[in-house]
Amino acid sequence: MEITSFYIEISEKNLINNINYLKEKYKKSVLPVIKANAYGHGIELIATALYKNGYKEFSVARLNEALKLLKNKELKKCKILVFETIDESYFSYIKNHDSIIVTANSFRELKNLVDNGISSKQIQLKIDFGFGRNGIELLDILKLKSYIVNKNLEFSGIYSHLYATDFNEGKELIDKFSEIVLFLGKEKFQMIHIQNSVGILFYGAQDFMTHMRSGIFIYGLQEEGFFHEGLKQVFQLKGKVAGVRDIEESKYLAYTSKEDLSNHDYKNIVKIKIGYGDGFLKCNENSMCIINKKTYKILSMTMDNTFIAGDDSISEGDEVILYPDINLIRNNTEMHICEVLPLINDRIERVLK
Ligand SMILES: *Cc1c(COP(=O)(O)O)cnc(C)c1O
Repeated sequence: MEITSFYIEISEKNLINNINYLKEKYKKSVLPVIKANAYGHGIELIATALYKNGYKEFSVARLNEALKLLKNKELKKCKILVFETIDESYFSYIKNHDSIIVTANSFRELKNLVDNGISSKQIQLKIDFGFGRNGIELLDILKLKSYIVNKNLEFSGIYSHLYATDFNEGKELIDKFSEIVLFLGKEKFQMIHIQNSVGILFYGAQDFMTHMRSGIFIYGLQEEGFFHEGLKQVFQLKGKVAGVRDIEESKYLAYTSKEDLSNHDYKNIVKIKIGYGDGFLKCNENSMCIINKKTYKILSMTMDNTFIAGDDSISEGDEVILYPDINLIRNNTEMHICEVLPLINDRIERVLK
């Protein structure tokens, strides 16, 4: 790796710490959500790190995310739950790959999967509570029950999702889901889960469920106001200073005239080799970064470079950390914590530490 290139360092220690922390605090298994390139951390890297540490169950949104993982021979024995409905053209593939667990997002879909010979042990039922997204509707629960009983089906699991509901509404949904699970027969499902990260924080672990389905928390991502002391940020976006220039000698900073720059109380301009062409967006202008443990302001960005207001203490080759505290991202850039890393593209390598 050349000295000036930026990379995302993934801390295996923090990742495993976060999962163990959740497991111990709530006494339930964690079903890690690794969709969207593991929230930008690198799906293969995160999956293999988890697998190596004994965590072999994952969940993703789309089939192509699961297919990508299964190309990796090391992950042979994993189980990957896919949330979204799978196209019929893949049914024969799925029959031959029991690592893939599909979701029945409606009663009709369940019948179609079973009719096409997909084992119910490879299916999880998704229950919908009227958000109109996807899931088996409450109207179909009686039909579902007699179907399950008649065919004597046992499933990989059953789940639902709490969308942005208020506290009491969420509590009601959990209770309703629990009733449905008991009505259908708890023993028919290997995995029972409803809560995402914030759902866990709000309601704790429920007796009837087996897993917590967590994305943001396993990566140590937390919005302000949702704070678990035991969770640690898993990534660091790091690189080195590529050059330092005295501001008096330059008339323009990238394409911006010096006069237009908001702040003049700095002496040097520090250049680093990352820009919006890497998915480090222009909304990061005026946010902060860290060089040699001190905070500095980002002034201006181009496709390939970013310019920082520096001081005399900075030299070429010094370490630069971007997004030092991701949980403050909304204050600095108005971005949501979940959109920051998926934007960083593959010009920036992900490296396991
Ligand atoms: C993305 C997703 C999650 C994870 O949510 P977090 O808020 O990141 O914990 C859980 N369940 C489903 C169905 C999802 O799509």
